[in-house]
Amino acid sequence: MAEKKVDLSSIKSKGFLPQRQENMFSMRLKVVSGNLDAEKLRAIADAAEKYGSGYVHITSRQQIEVPFVKLEDVEAAINELEKQGISGGSAGKKVRAIVACQGNRVCRHGLIDCQNLAHMIDEKYFGEAVPKKLKIAVTGCPSACMRPQDNDFGIMGTVRPEIREENCVGCKLCEKACKMGAITVLEDKAHIDTGKCILCGACIAACRKDALKAEKTGCTIFVGGRAGRQPRQGIKLLELADEKQLFSILEKTFEYYRKEGLDGERLGELIDRLGIEKYLDSIGCVSHTDYSS
Ligand code: SF4
Ligand code: SF4
Ligand code: SF4
Repeated sequence: MAEKKVDLSSIKSKGFLPQRQENMFSMRLKVVSGNLDAEKLRAIADAAEKYGSGYVHITSRQQIEVPFVKLEDVEAAINELEKQGISGGSAGKKVRAIVACQGNRVCRHGLIDCQNLAHMIDEKYFGEAVPKKLKIAVTGCPSACMRPQDNDFGIMGTVRPEIREENCVGCKLCEKACKMGAITVLEDKAHIDTGKCILCGACIAACRKDALKAEKTGCTIFVGGRAGRQPRQGIKLLELADEKQLFSILEKTFEYYRKEGLDGERLGELIDRLGIEKYLDSIGCVSHTDYSS
């Protein structure tokens, strides 16, 4: 009897990564922003026992892999998980799963709702074809736990503090809270050195006299970063972007990458090859300073 032909590319497109062991696959499952409810975790645990080796691997990008799935079990494993609302992860030349920290839903330092943003981006872009791959990270504050600068498109929550001088009693709590040395209290009044301020909001949280307020909250956007063999820091494109600006830049960046990117080229390489000005022009900006100021 003729042997059934295996369509490896179709298997890979469902998130199954060939292992070094013959006919074994690591089943990568999609996790958006690192959160999974308990029911889905149970279903994955069951699948790991039934089709894998009884364990899962958590990847550096918040994905779950079930290693040691046999080739003949691939279809059954993914079908079973899909019934529970769990789908295969992204691999190859696609937009990868969006990673995010807990943001302001949980973390005391969080300035934006990372989970909500990550889900919105996921719904619009996950799995879309690109010249190489597009990694997106959403992080809640300048502590940058999700390393937005190492992603093709990085989003970081930021806030600009404003002093209400009339309320300031010169207690210096904000000065102590600022790790950047950006606040000085002189003659019982706080002053901010905007050149040193990283827009983290720690001073606002520290003030007990309502003398510091959030003048504007938004996102700092980085583009063209990557980790790996040839790491490259993303370019800081814009500070304190609102949601509309963020999605407009993301859409235009995505279009630019798909239109101009060569096969196998990362976004940062494309920006280097054609120049930052061309990229900025394509997203509707005349010069880099328009964005970084
Ligand atoms: S980046 Fe900020 S908000 Fe996110 S986990 Fe780290 S400290 Fe918390
Ligand atoms: S913590 Fe508030 S009241 Fe105290 S010095 Fe800073 S701004 Fe003024
Ligand atoms: S926002 Fe952060 S860096 Fe800026 S002054 Fe306040 S504590 Fe310092």
